[in-house]
Amino acid sequence: VSQTIYFDNAATTFPKPEIVYETMDKVYRSIGVNAGRSSYRIAREANEIINETRTNLAKLVNFKTPNRIVFAPSATIAMNQIINGLKWDDRKTVYVTPFEHNAIMRPLHYIQKKHHIDIEIIQFDEKSFEIDMENLKINFSQKRPDYIFLSHVSNVTGYILPVELIAEVAKKYNAVIILDCAQSMGLLPIDTEKLDVDYLVFAGHKTLYGPFGIAGFIDKSDFKLSYFLAGGTGSDSLNLDMPDYYPTIYEVASPNIQAIAGLNAAIKWIDETGIDNIRIREEELTLRLTEGLSGIYGAKLYLPKKETDRTGIISCTFDDADSNEVGKLLDEYSIAVRTGYHCAPNIHNFLSTTAKGGTVRFSLSYFNTVEEIEYLINCLTDLDL
Ligand code: PMP
Repeated sequence: VSQTIYFDNAATTFPKPEIVYETMDKVYRSIGVNAGRSSYRIAREANEIINETRTNLAKLVNFKTPNRIVFAPSATIAMNQIINGLKWDDRKTVYVTPFEHNAIMRPLHYIQKKHHIDIEIIQFDEKSFEIDMENLKINFSQKRPDYIFLSHVSNVTGYILPVELIAEVAKKYNAVIILDCAQSMGLLPIDTEKLDVDYLVFAGHKTLYGPFGIAGFIDKSDFKLSYFLAGGTGSDSLNLDMPDYYPTIYEVASPNIQAIAGLNAAIKWIDETGIDNIRIREEELTLRLTEGLSGIYGAKLYLPKKETDRTGIISCTFDDADSNEVGKLLDEYSIAVRTGYHCAPNIHNFLSTTAKGGTVRFSLSYFNTVEEIEYLINCLTDLDL
């Protein structure tokens, strides 16, 4: 079987660091039991791994209260817990950006149908992706924001949004801010002490280099979410309400010990490799890819204007080919890319890529190589689209 050249790391980073596979196998074989439900030794050990993972993740983002890190099976589920846990009776104004994922837009749409909320889209410049802060200030003053949902990094364009700036203005109105860090945590340095947002949602299987099945949110907020999911926690079982303490109030069902152990190993790997080294490597690869793609006749790249606002996710369209067609052709060269709308419903209007069937998205990780990028560029040249 020929090897796949993988450029779909925004969907999930692949492969994982070797230590992630090793740890998951070892933990599942030795202490793959139901943590937090029993007092025998290996159940306690499994519990310790969960606590250690919370502590290590907290360290990674300079967060002082690890028990306010809530684990969930996926970023989408974590986002649903937040959205459905917010108050909607008297707080009706929501701002989102054109970059938001359906993990946000679909649950918000669901809330909209029930509570008649207003969803406003913050304006960004279509060419540079820059935000007009003065305009935003006016918008906020005319229509006060209750909740703001922001992608930290766009899963379509790799754009790093100016979240600090937006948060600063929004906090003047006491808005609750939800930051989607699915494409940023583990890749960009995040300092939760400095970043004035309420909830940070993370996905273990993306830039954190962990496995599927573990994600969650960091709760920095004074706002208390209602719990959306209810069920077994292994504690206070005669009480039909969820236990009223963190993180248990939001953590239902048997914890995925294998995935959590994998995430723990991945965070340690990030720490040992150095978050800056991972970013530098990805930047070098991104530059090569950007240069290569820019040289392909008929390719149009959707890049943030400033190089420092970019990560290793690049979307493009081709003059004479539909995006899905390009994906199929590249597959014949064993190159894996993602094509289409990438679960981001607002951005294709913004980029005018709807008629093209969305974009062809190339996304990198620490484990891609310059040779792979050269092979891709040669194939695209060969294809003569
Ligand atoms: N937000 C963003 C920005 C994403 O890219 C993704 C995954 N594509 C998600 C949320 C949802 O992650 P998951 O599918 O793992 O729940």
